[in-house]
Amino acid sequence: MSVSEGLDVRRGEDADLILRRATVLDPVAAIDGVHDVVIRDGEIAALAAPGEGEAEGAEVVEAEGMHAFPAFFDPHVHLRTPGHQHKEDVETGTRSAAAGGYCGILAMANTDPPVSTAADVTALREQARAGASVPVGFLATVSREMAGEELTEMVELREAGAVGFSDDGLPIVSARLMLRALQYQRLCGGTIALHEEDPELSGAGVMHEGPVSAALGLAGVPSVSESTMIARDAALAAYENARIHVQHLSAAESVAVVRAAKAAGVQISAEASPHHLCLTDEAVRSLDPRRFKMNPPLRHESDRQALIEALRDGTIECVATDHAPHQAEEKDVPFEQAAMGVTGLETAFAALHTELVLPGTIELALLVERMAGGAAPFGVERPSLAPGSEANVALCDLGAEWTVGEDGYESRSQNSWCAGRTLTGRVMVTVAAGQVAFRLRSFSLGVAA
Ligand SMILES: [Zn+2]
Ligand SMILES: [Zn+2]
Repeated sequence: MSVSEGLDVRRGEDADLILRRATVLDPVAAIDGVHDVVIRDGEIAALAAPGEGEAEGAEVVEAEGMHAFPAFFDPHVHLRTPGHQHKEDVETGTRSAAAGGYCGILAMANTDPPVSTAADVTALREQARAGASVPVGFLATVSREMAGEELTEMVELREAGAVGFSDDGLPIVSARLMLRALQYQRLCGGTIALHEEDPELSGAGVMHEGPVSAALGLAGVPSVSESTMIARDAALAAYENARIHVQHLSAAESVAVVRAAKAAGVQISAEASPHHLCLTDEAVRSLDPRRFKMNPPLRHESDRQALIEALRDGTIECVATDHAPHQAEEKDVPFEQAAMGVTGLETAFAALHTELVLPGTIELALLVERMAGGAAPFGVERPSLAPGSEANVALCDLGAEWTVGEDGYESRSQNSWCAGRTLTGRVMVTVAAGQVAFRLRSFSLGVAA
């Protein structure tokens, strides 16, 4: 088993690399100390005593003072291909992921056309093998063309390599369709990832419903639009003994529902996005849709606190960016009309390190664990720094300050919720599936010994 098994990536040269005197932190493998990380033929060959890793024939990186983490895994990315390559494609999206320290991502299926047939999955997998910097897994839609009426051929889609299923972008409104999807899932595997929202409650809302939406005179989306649908689907998953993953949790009520479902033994996992963990609806007072309009919307401070608590106690097992690229013409319009979504791959770790770890809200080890927590819910092996593992490493300089957007983006789009912010902590090198997937331009790797 390896992280990249079942995912697709462009195969190049296996890394032979020594990260000299790196502070190695892998909480799940109980590794915490200064080591030479010795990477041979794309594997973690050894964690040697500082300065003593065998360097012959390998590139040497002087990593003293830097941190080596298991590279991150993002279960929620929009690569916008096919159909919207002017926003992103497999190549730019995976470059963006590599720059953010990721060794694997899952791509959503709400493309144009949506990923609804085995041929669609096969074509995307070929694209990833031709041009993906980090391994990608593709989800297929639950309903045909995301119309919410008929199921896709889930068994066939799994055989073609779909990692899971999601109609993300839209909820599955019909409880009957949801139930049947869960029945098939039990048969063919593949976690169903759910964008939870009751369209009748969301209505024409463009931000969180509360005092801020009232003050701005904007239509609001109430928290119960999300939590009531999660409650329905948790009950259906329990009834069918099937597995669901709840995407982009945003509200305290939703956290309570997921926590109760887990306590009752439901096979349910959940993710939260960096923007929901760092921002509240107060940011919307700026009326800047490029950075602050997304679905689900930014909610109240009490919701943000509930998400942080859920990240701590494991109710939320992973951070997922919901990286959603849009071009300027879809964003630089009045708030009500602007497209929903923000990019996040390149800034997720740095933003959470800056906003939650440095002030002491959560421990670094917890962040590192949750950044890779999105693999297991989809049956993907968790990245590990234990010797013998496929090399998947994010080398970070936790003291480096940088201003987001100053050097441009690897993504084709610029709607980063962090644009213009100064963050502390930067990914210097990413090794993904045993290959060097990214190195920061200003940071040169050492010479071969
Ligand atoms: Zn969504
Ligand atoms: Zn999404």
